[in-house]
Amino acid sequence: MSHKRFVIAIDGPAGAGKSTVAMLVAKALGFLYVDTGAMYRALTLKAIQLKLDLNDRNALIDMSRNTRIELIQNENHYRVFLDGLEVTKAIRSELVSKNSHFIASIPEVREILWSIQRSYREKYDIVMEGRDIGTIVFPDAQLKIYLDASVEERAKRRYLQLKQQGIETNIEDLKKEIILRDERDKNRNIAPLRKHPDAITIDTTYLTIEQEVSMIVHLYKQTTEKNKK
Ligand code: C5P
Repeated sequence: MSHKRFVIAIDGPAGAGKSTVAMLVAKALGFLYVDTGAMYRALTLKAIQLKLDLNDRNALIDMSRNTRIELIQNENHYRVFLDGLEVTKAIRSELVSKNSHFIASIPEVREILWSIQRSYREKYDIVMEGRDIGTIVFPDAQLKIYLDASVEERAKRRYLQLKQQGIETNIEDLKKEIILRDERDKNRNIAPLRKHPDAITIDTTYLTIEQEVSMIVHLYKQTTEKNKK
């Protein structure tokens, strides 16, 4: 029997709804929620603030080695701190979304973040979401989920989300951006977005958030029952 802490790894493309679902699953099970995208975003924000050349890998590696990222969770809040300052909202800007691929494609930077991500398991059962959690960070995660949705649906969700924040955009532009991010995530040399062969795919195009959460909680219960036998 494994004594390792339980990991639910949730991977999938941009805009598939991973964050919302992962957070709710973590809450339902009393697990720690870890948004790995927030880490790539925080480093990207810092590089932009420092006006670093995003093609200068050495500068980005150096910066990453000298950065402190903290993900703090309490009751209904999830906050991100960069070198002690809160950046929860700032990391969600379009500028950061569009430029995260520079940081995400540098192996040395990923190594730094992987070791932070793996360290959470020493103390906690976790729900971790990203692009490479089931494939690279925790290939031995007890439950692996691949969350997907059509490009149209993901663009529509993003459109409504931005509209709620008072930002007017158009769906066609958002669709193009999502396709570009998918291509970059799937085709980069290091840790490309892939479905692990053991991962269970959930297509969320026609599902409500509640349905997705209860499916994953059910899969968790099934897995723990099976492991007891
Ligand atoms: O998930 P989110 O869109 O917030 O991630 C921001 C960026 O970080 C993505 O564009 C993706 O390329 C990168 N990322 C990654 N590996 C992860 C999580 C995010 O490369 N595990």
